[in-house]
Amino acid sequence: MTQNQKITLASRPQGEATAQNFALVAETLPAPGEGQILVRHHYLSLDPYMRGRMNDSRSYAQPQPIGEVMIGGTVGEVVASNNPHFKVGDHVVGMGGWQLFCLSDGKGWQKVDARAPIQAYLGALGMPGVTAWYGLNKIITPKAGETVVVSAATGAVGSVVGQLATLAGARAVGIAGGADKCRYAVETLGFAACVDHRAADFAAALKAATPKGIDGVFENVGGLPLELSMRRLNDFARIAICGLVASGYDGTPTPLSNIAVMLATRAKMQGFIVSDHLDVWPVALAELGALALAGQLKWHETIAVGLTSAPEAFFGMLKGRNFGKQLVKLV
Ligand code: NDP
Repeated sequence: MTQNQKITLASRPQGEATAQNFALVAETLPAPGEGQILVRHHYLSLDPYMRGRMNDSRSYAQPQPIGEVMIGGTVGEVVASNNPHFKVGDHVVGMGGWQLFCLSDGKGWQKVDARAPIQAYLGALGMPGVTAWYGLNKIITPKAGETVVVSAATGAVGSVVGQLATLAGARAVGIAGGADKCRYAVETLGFAACVDHRAADFAAALKAATPKGIDGVFENVGGLPLELSMRRLNDFARIAICGLVASGYDGTPTPLSNIAVMLATRAKMQGFIVSDHLDVWPVALAELGALALAGQLKWHETIAVGLTSAPEAFFGMLKGRNFGKQLVKLV
């Protein structure tokens, strides 16, 4: 028997999500049954997609059911196993949810390489890293000397996009919130330039940072960053729509005022969902892991402590208060 704590979705948000939309629930888990494992979570990943799942609206995935544990990626350690594929002490990553422990049949859980910090498998060496890899390599396909603009540039996805674009010989230009994030993007992540979207001169600064126009846009935010990037498109530019975190989650359509530029430049705009492309995950993860071990892939983390800190950390991430991958430490 194991004492578990979990956070469930108590109600659907009307506008911004609040603490009242979540409930903290204690429960007793039985010992693992036939074929099951018990995972003790070390870290929970907080991701923008979770806010979309809280709504009951048409999307690429089913809504989060009310009363059930919030969906979420986790890494942890197998503490009991009746499954021949896992042994006690294995470090694993999977979709364990907002809770301290997860009882599972093992499906969807992967063992992780202990040479990297365990929580990296929720960030640069996990789903966000593959997202960056896919959107950059399969949609933007950067060529040496091209300019690639990345919004939310220091975040879990954006930071990997910028580093991979630079390694491909492109000129990576970030958009991020605040001087500290912009400095980090250039000095640590190796972006050629990074522009502060909160600054009064945002539009002029983006123009100055992209003197040869823009060939690739990796869009994580939407809103003004996307509008301004589209004004700078070169002919045959590629726009990967990865996320629209600035557009709100109340059903209001994301404005796109400058659609004529798509015709004038013959640009391509493509949305994508990383879970549609499971075939590339092994290749992408191997490449990202090798870069990390070679010291060529860096990342930043913001770590909240304790399960009960998850809702506040989640709200902060949706407003850009995180710096790099937002995690919750659970042990
Ligand atoms: P981040 O770590 O980048 O965190 C979100 C960031 O968005 C904030 O730190 C903030 O950065 C920026 N932001 C939030 N609100 C605003 C706003 N109003 N205006 C401008 N920027 C804002 O998150 P992830 O790296 O996990 O995700 C990045 C994007 O990728 C998200 O849109 C997410 O939904 C998407 N995604 C898509 C996937 C797919 O399969 N398509 C898979 C995974 C993620 P700053 O302060 O620098 O502006």
